[in-house]
Amino acid sequence: MTHCSDEALILHHYGEDTTHERHLASCAECDARYRDLASVLQAVNVVQTPARGEHYGIEVWQRIRHQLPEREPWWRAFIDEWQWAAVAAAAVVLVAAGFAVGRLWPALPAESIAVRSEAAV
Ligand SMILES: [Zn+2]
Repeated sequence: MTHCSDEALILHHYGEDTTHERHLASCAECDARYRDLASVLQAVNVVQTPARGEHYGIEVWQRIRHQLPEREPWWRAFIDEWQWAAVAAAAVVLVAAGFAVGRLWPALPAESIAVRSEAAV
């Protein structure tokens, strides 16, 4: 004869599994275990959770949001603060190089510009 497991007895106590009723009625050992287990489970106070209001999530957020660290933008994860100086310096160098190249690049003769504009028409 297979006796009921403790899990089955607990489920039976809470009314979630009624398949062991016949075995409990015919087996004194399981019935005794069930009565012991039921007395322990009845001694445990079941705390009823309070009903949550419609705005429970917002209330919780308002309560804890000041305790959370400031959220950084996603791109800050890629660049540390000390790297900002390098990024700024690189940007300045690129702008200066672009300006210098624009000033020093040999300009096309006026004739070739006229020929190109006529060919385009
Ligand atoms: Zn049994």
